[in-house]
Amino acid sequence: MGKILVIGCGGVAGVAIHKICQNSEAFSELCIASRTKAKCDALAEKLGGGKTKITTAQVDADKVDELIALISKEKPDVVLNLALPYQDLHIMDACLATKTSYVDTANYEPEDTAHFEYKWQWDYREKFKEAGITALLGSGFDPGVTGVFSAYAMKHYFDEIHEIDILDCNGGDHGYPFATNFNPEINIREVTAKGMYWETGRWITTEPMEIKREYDFKGVGLKEMYLLHHEELESLALNIKGIKRIRFFMTFSQNYLTHLNCLENVGMTSIEPINYQGMEIIPLQFLKAVLPDPASLGPRTKGKTNIGCIFKGIKDGREKTYYLFNICDHEECYREVGSQAISYTTGVPAMIGAMLVMNGTWSKPGVYNVEEFDPDPFMEALNKWGLPWEEDFQPAMVP
Ligand code: NDP
Repeated sequence: MGKILVIGCGGVAGVAIHKICQNSEAFSELCIASRTKAKCDALAEKLGGGKTKITTAQVDADKVDELIALISKEKPDVVLNLALPYQDLHIMDACLATKTSYVDTANYEPEDTAHFEYKWQWDYREKFKEAGITALLGSGFDPGVTGVFSAYAMKHYFDEIHEIDILDCNGGDHGYPFATNFNPEINIREVTAKGMYWETGRWITTEPMEIKREYDFKGVGLKEMYLLHHEELESLALNIKGIKRIRFFMTFSQNYLTHLNCLENVGMTSIEPINYQGMEIIPLQFLKAVLPDPASLGPRTKGKTNIGCIFKGIKDGREKTYYLFNICDHEECYREVGSQAISYTTGVPAMIGAMLVMNGTWSKPGVYNVEEFDPDPFMEALNKWGLPWEEDFQPAMVP
């Protein structure tokens, strides 16, 4: 049993906090801290009275001193960062100063450049080792479960994995003309970036949405999907033995893409500051303010997600393929925790990663991605905590 400090109180945190409270055998105490304390209080009010003792706090996670003061006062066994990628390094600095283990779901991204990579967080490896604490990076679904799936496939089914295709399909419909399923600013930065994939030892860059494929997803049906750069490609390209190609595809409706194109064409997705009536504003942040809050999509979203990995490789000298995936139903998630499936599929693995670090199952000093640990306890916990996985030993392959 232990104490967790969750930083951030948005869509993903809402689910993780529900699951932490369901899992009171592991989490006896929880502190929820975020920029807007009223949101933490409202959630604590809703979930309080159970076996997990809940407190709340206000914190600006861009201020390392405030974070150090908060962690020193609360003395959690683990900090779960569910704020935005911009805050990762500040929270890691505060964890180092207080010798507290750290878990997140998204890699660091500087706010003023649309660029993400693990370099900044991997640079903390020696410092975390010296401090004797663990940092677990990317414990959401993708990244997160996709890395655990890869480690599981490697451990149980392959001698070498040569190809991985990560397929992220959202067959949900929220009825809005245009909305994003998680933080709009982070989501739009991701999908308007150039595409990238790893092949025969080098990165290949494409124009945004240049590569399109179709796939017939179990539980959802036939969907168009597009190749994107995604952060787990970087760590899996290093950590999976024998890998020759790794790609990431995400489904988008034609309607979503048409809206996104229009917004891009008129400059609304730009992160370059502009002057508006004497005030400096960032168009993408203004756009975020007028788009539906992803947390409000829960009661409106119907349909399913299907996210997983198709592997191709060698076992005992023979070529083999294997598909591991999870199907998640938006309406069932809403009934259980009041959120749609995108927040659910991220919040559940965030709780699991924090639990495994806290109880010592996944604890070793340093900075690690999920695929560097034994996948079995995580896979077992996915089945137990609401994200059961399925296997297909003869999957259709993506051309
Ligand atoms: P939201 O915007 O819904 O929530 C972010 C929360 O962080 C809000 O409560 C916000 O406060 C708080 N916050 C932001 N800045 C600060 C700050 N400086 N100090 C303190 N709190 C702050 O985002 P999501 O819940 O959708 O996403 C959370 C994280 O999960 C993101 O990093 C996202 O990239 C990641 N993610 C990962 C996925 C995966 O599969 N790995 C998938 C989806 C998301 P306020 O309420 O005041 O705005």
